[in-house]
Amino acid sequence: MTEKLLRDIAEHYGAQHQTFKLAEEAAELSAAATRFALAKTRADSSAELDHLIEEAADVLVMISQFAFNYNCEDKLKTIGDEKIRRTIKRMEDEP
Ligand SMILES: [Mg+2]
Repeated sequence: MTEKLLRDIAEHYGAQHQTFKLAEEAAELSAAATRFALAKTRADSSAELDHLIEEAADVLVMISQFAFNYNCEDKLKTIGDEKIRRTIKRMEDEP
């Protein structure tokens, strides 16, 4: 059901509009991650964590629509898997 709703939203607003929205949400996620990282030095950073989670959810929703709009879900998964393998290899090569 969620996938159908995401496709409905993506089709309603169109690929270009949602790509700009992805950029906007990614910028908000970047700011929220920075604020959370800075707040981690305080005793209570739960508000910043909650905000970061909300922004991460926004980006996940926009990435799902991006994958639908540009029919690149398989490519996203393949490249993501490659990047994970590359990071693991780099970790194994660390002294
Ligand atoms: Mg947002």
